[in-house]
Amino acid sequence: GTVTLGKLNMDEFAMGSANESSYYGPVKNPWDPTRVPGGSSGGSAAAIAARLIPAATGTDTGGSIRQPAALTNLTGLKPTYGRVSRWGMVAYASSLDQGGPMARTAEDCALLLGAMAGFDPKDSTSVEQPLDDYLAALNQPLAGLRIGLPQEYFGAGLDPKIADAVMQVVEELKKLGATVKDISLPNMQHAIPSYYVIAPAEASSNLSRFDGVRFGYRCENPADLTDLYKRSRAEGFGDEVKRRIMVGTYALSAGYYDAYYLKAQKIRRLIKNDFVGAFEEVDLILGPTTPNLAWKLGEKNADPVSAYLEDIYTITANLAGIPGLSMPAGFIDGLPVGVQLLAPYFQEARLLNVAHQYQQVSDWHLRAPAGF
Ligand code: GLN
Repeated sequence: GTVTLGKLNMDEFAMGSANESSYYGPVKNPWDPTRVPGGSSGGSAAAIAARLIPAATGTDTGGSIRQPAALTNLTGLKPTYGRVSRWGMVAYASSLDQGGPMARTAEDCALLLGAMAGFDPKDSTSVEQPLDDYLAALNQPLAGLRIGLPQEYFGAGLDPKIADAVMQVVEELKKLGATVKDISLPNMQHAIPSYYVIAPAEASSNLSRFDGVRFGYRCENPADLTDLYKRSRAEGFGDEVKRRIMVGTYALSAGYYDAYYLKAQKIRRLIKNDFVGAFEEVDLILGPTTPNLAWKLGEKNADPVSAYLEDIYTITANLAGIPGLSMPAGFIDGLPVGVQLLAPYFQEARLLNVAHQYQQVSDWHLRAPAGF
């Protein structure tokens, strides 16, 4: 029964961390219009943060729900891979893509997830597993909850002020009865290189269908079929998308496949095993969502790798397929900070429960940007 109000801006083919690679131009962050709202779901994030809409969907291939949520003071949830149907979504990297809700509160995310989640025979990776009652789970007390703090999430590269904000959330959760333990996810250091091989590889394959014949943009007056392919793709795709197609095609090519794609897939398994091992000891993993606050529009355009590094804390959940949630954790110099919660497979209810309980004893999520 939900009414869709419209489509929102985003990075082209969901490739980006700042919503600056959009055909329609960048999105501004309502908390500071000189800064990015995060990406790729920057339009969803900005529209909710600016109080234009109560909630929106996004897709998260490497953080595109959680990272913009963090940079705009929202709650955003990437469900377990297979929990929400991908039918109807344009594929970016099919083994990583997952749709999910973004809203101001965990409670609103629970409502939206309840409507989105479930088995869909139209998506062969959709999982046939009963849904939890996400709303009912919100009110469970947190006494006895075991939280793991991975040392790799608090190392070099993290803004120390973000680390402080995250640790204050931990203190509040302890007051609610949670216990805390230091853990390690040793293969996290390989996450960015393996993600930025796997995601472009899958993208290069998925985007080959945009040939000017069946989908998307078609060039004017093609001379012949080859010209149609070449010019439709050259004119239709933006720079970031072309960069990824080239990286992905290279990584999949004969001779390089074993060295790059296969290697990245093996690392992916190690990252998954790290999480499976950690969840034998803890119920939830907690850390920052992003290493830095929202950056200035244009700041990272000349250096794509510096933008890729911003994904360090979010991409591991996609590589492993586990669910992750970002929620508001305070402000630094007027800019929102996000804390990320990660849970075992299909434990979305636990993520929403913890976020909701935290939101009963904090008011960050209620704060609106000036003028909205
Ligand atoms: N920033 C990451 C990328 O560009 C993730 C994007 C996403 O989750 N869609 O691949």
